[in-house]
Amino acid sequence: MSTVSIALSNTEIDDLFQRYPMAEKRKTPAYAKWQIKLSDCVITAYESGKVVFQGDGAEFHSSSYQGAVKRMPVPSISITYPQCGSDEVGTGDYFGPVCVCAAYVSEKDAEWLKSLGVQDSKAIKDDTILTIGPKLMERLVHSLLILDNETYNRIHPDHNMVAIKCKLHNQAFVHLRHKLKALPKHIIIDQFVKKESYYRYLRQEAEVIEGIHFETKAENKYMAVAAASVIARYAFLMRFEAMCQAYDFPFLKGASAKVDQNIVDFVQRYGQASLTKVAKLHFANTKKAGL
Ligand code: MG
Repeated sequence: MSTVSIALSNTEIDDLFQRYPMAEKRKTPAYAKWQIKLSDCVITAYESGKVVFQGDGAEFHSSSYQGAVKRMPVPSISITYPQCGSDEVGTGDYFGPVCVCAAYVSEKDAEWLKSLGVQDSKAIKDDTILTIGPKLMERLVHSLLILDNETYNRIHPDHNMVAIKCKLHNQAFVHLRHKLKALPKHIIIDQFVKKESYYRYLRQEAEVIEGIHFETKAENKYMAVAAASVIARYAFLMRFEAMCQAYDFPFLKGASAKVDQNIVDFVQRYGQASLTKVAKLHFANTKKAGL
């Protein structure tokens, strides 16, 4: 249990209150404006401008107010529910799988997600992802696809990373359509390729989901994309941790120069052939590690 205290302006305090419309309103303590209770945090705003966050989610819920107040980017289409969104994780990491998720979010789900703090998924720390990931998976209709490294390395010579991503996103939405019978009007992808190219890569696919809206930074703007992003990250973190356990090896995330040495260490212990089970071999890191 942690406590974070910060000073906010009156406007910021009002803004904070409005961010959690579903939160339980508590009896107001002395000298306070209000107190609300979230599943993982109690927030008390005092007349003085002091705001206290208490609980496991204290860091997380106060994070957007530490330093400059963060402004959320504005979505280009009006936000209506229900909506579906998709995002992927692991494409920038040398080690570990590629995880793609598509999720369905109703208006009620959106309120619930806001109360959990799922608004700016990129700002959510890994330990919070591990807590809220399972909750999202339990409540939201979603499709999660995990492409393991061995399969990735086998198909990569014929399909570049963009092609692989296009197919996984499409497949996730196809699964979602089967689960829901029909997809809602708003289907959003956190854009990684132009719309025309996306559909070009899908020409050979048996079933293609049409009418998708492509937008960059969509994980900050659309609750369905934010939720999909959290689930995909949760899946990636779980797989990554399982990999570290299975090999008793401290794999590094990302694809920095530090990863090059990490590769050398891994190959020394397990041999080059094992690398295909844990890494995306086409990354420049493989060559940089001298392999
Ligand atoms: Mg993305």
